[in-house]
Amino acid sequence: AAAAEVAARVERQERELRWLSAEVGQLKEPLSPGTCSPELLRLRAENEKLRYRLLHLRRSLEAELGRTERRPPDPAAEEDKVGPGVETPTVIPAGDVKRLQSEPSFIEDRFKLYEALKKEHDALLAHRAANESKPIKIILPDGKMAEGESWKTTPYQLAVGISQHLASNAVIAKLNGELWDLDRPLEGDCALELLTFDNEEAKAVYWHSSAHILGEAMEGYFGGCLCYGPPIENGFYYDMYIGDRSVSSTEFPLLENRCRNIIKEKQAFERLEVKKEILLDMFKYNKFKCRILNEKVNTPTTTIYRCGSLIDLCRGPHVRHTGKIKALKIFKNSSTYWEGKSDMETLQRIYGISFPDNKMMKEWEKFQEEARNRDHRKIGKEQELFFFHDLSPGSCFFLPRGTFLYNTLVDFMREEYHRRNFTEVVSPNIFNSKLWEASGHWQHYSQNMFSFEVEKEAFALKPMNCPGHCLMFAHRPRSWREMPLRLADFGVLHRNELSGTLSGLTRVRRFQQDDAHIFCTMEQIEEEIKGCLDFLKSVYTVFGFSFQLHLSTRPENYLGELEIWDYAEKQLQNTLNDFGEQWSLNPGDGAFYGPKIDINIKDAIGRYHQCATIQLDFQLPIRFNLTYVGKDGDDKKRPVIIHRAILGSVERMIAILAENYGGKWPFWLSPRQIMVVPVGPASEEYAHQICSEFFEAGFMSDVDLDQSCTLNKKIRNAQLAQYNFILVVGEKEKANNAVNVRTRDNKVHGEISVPSAIEKLKKFKASRIPNAEEEF
Ligand SMILES: [Zn+2]
Ligand SMILES: [Zn+2]
Repeated sequence: AAAAEVAARVERQERELRWLSAEVGQLKEPLSPGTCSPELLRLRAENEKLRYRLLHLRRSLEAELGRTERRPPDPAAEEDKVGPGVETPTVIPAGDVKRLQSEPSFIEDRFKLYEALKKEHDALLAHRAANESKPIKIILPDGKMAEGESWKTTPYQLAVGISQHLASNAVIAKLNGELWDLDRPLEGDCALELLTFDNEEAKAVYWHSSAHILGEAMEGYFGGCLCYGPPIENGFYYDMYIGDRSVSSTEFPLLENRCRNIIKEKQAFERLEVKKEILLDMFKYNKFKCRILNEKVNTPTTTIYRCGSLIDLCRGPHVRHTGKIKALKIFKNSSTYWEGKSDMETLQRIYGISFPDNKMMKEWEKFQEEARNRDHRKIGKEQELFFFHDLSPGSCFFLPRGTFLYNTLVDFMREEYHRRNFTEVVSPNIFNSKLWEASGHWQHYSQNMFSFEVEKEAFALKPMNCPGHCLMFAHRPRSWREMPLRLADFGVLHRNELSGTLSGLTRVRRFQQDDAHIFCTMEQIEEEIKGCLDFLKSVYTVFGFSFQLHLSTRPENYLGELEIWDYAEKQLQNTLNDFGEQWSLNPGDGAFYGPKIDINIKDAIGRYHQCATIQLDFQLPIRFNLTYVGKDGDDKKRPVIIHRAILGSVERMIAILAENYGGKWPFWLSPRQIMVVPVGPASEEYAHQICSEFFEAGFMSDVDLDQSCTLNKKIRNAQLAQYNFILVVGEKEKANNAVNVRTRDNKVHGEISVPSAIEKLKKFKASRIPNAEEEF
């Protein structure tokens, strides 16, 4: 009966889906850009709503189908071949294409086509080497000159000429600034560099090459369609479409085993340049590769690379052969959508990491262990700070201690705002879609917004505060005398992140920012940016973060006037130079509406996080037609908006701080500052009184009156719970109106009078020093 009900529901949803698709299609048809009648706007809004509903129906349909049809993963079949968790390699039949018996049928067809192309390519290269080769000069980084022959000499041969050590450690060559396969013949005079794993670009090549190994293993094991396999900040992943089958972590060892075999075979990475039409034929079994060819490749030819049985559409370059990967580990999987779009196919993503030696892998594993111990989700649970509930995915429940942390951070920012002449405002959470149309969010960001209907009009929860602040600026005429106007807002923001991407406090749907918008004149930019930099430095110093600054300048698709951009970028550069910290330039990396400064903070275990932003915006004031009356009486002056935040999302900052401190919060921020412990039952009343006194003085204090516990055990428990100070009290302390102070690291400071203890702690709290326990 339940099955019939589900089937009926699925059918009903499918019907509704078809109807909505048709409806959306119809609404889309007559629309042409440029025209903008009220009727059209109404239709567009309608269209948007339908699309939103369609998306939801599709999601619930997928979920429904997943429940009814999910086939269990089948690692058993694979285990028959290799044995569970067996280290010994699978026996692979010898021959040119080494492959397993059960490989998908497209592999053979793909390889036949490849072989023919490869023959042509080799013949062409041989012809060039025989007829077109001439002596060339290669300039090495140390200025030395090497001799070679075009179409014959490879970077690898040159490396061997320099030293065998360099040749075996080189990951990739760089030729006139462009990455180049080590075995690809040089074509003319050039400047050549050989990069090793410690170089960031080489590392990306190394991890990207490892993704091919993983891809080859995945193809053989799952038989699905490979999609994208890029390197990432730490390792690489490969996405694969395997219908509605999911991946289980119990399959990792089987995949790793396949990877090990591929590595053992030292499969060469072979590069071929091929016409697009031929590739569309070669990859006809894989609609995703065809999409890439049709949508992303704008040249008549592109390249493929082969290693072993895998032939992959790829621009390259790669390491010489799979044997260059010495240690490879698969550590995570998740599901995602094609190009991250929730209305596209569901893909399975498998993450890996690799290194040129085992020692580095061991270090990485140790680091992972350390990171796991510091995981904010673990700390949040152990310290009873917060939790999540399935009934509101991505929206955190902060428990009392977590809320204390939250409010302490917000109060910190409020205090700074007060000192720096920011004024705090409160603005609405829901806005009519007309606001989002004006700001451009409806056109570019509606996928990420929670929208709904109120009295037949579309509304949405705000994903950012800026458009609301523009309404505030515009609600009455403004004069140059009011500028800069600095509006700060801790408003609640919502963004509709895909449920599969939500992760603890680092990726949420509901959050607050220490968001502020500065409305200023063009001439004030320099001074304001200086203020922003000074602000973030003083906040990060309190947290103990060092940071990196990057200036991102005008991109190709910029909007607005060139002179304005140049003028603003010059001011940003001046400010950065005066600021005295190192900064680097990311040319062309700015947003289309203005240049920005990105700030990366470095945490206690060396990880970088981007929290703060300082973003100039020339477009939003135009979109909202914001003006002010200038000194000269011109009432059509345009302000500039500076978007800025230092904590970024308060939620995410709590995660970063929890992991940075490993749960050992500094005194001013600590949700457990003081534990009062009586030496025996006779001192309980005094202990209770002391706890109240410290609580009234503004501290998070508790008292341990558990009579079943020994004194030492109580102290130990308080230390493990990360109470910064433990105040032990007995008859002697009572007689002296004093407490006996020790810290969570068991440093004993001894007896001190209650008023002086309170005074000291108040000072520590106000100055936000990081090591109150030592300084006491
Ligand atoms: Zn590749
Ligand atoms: Zn903003």
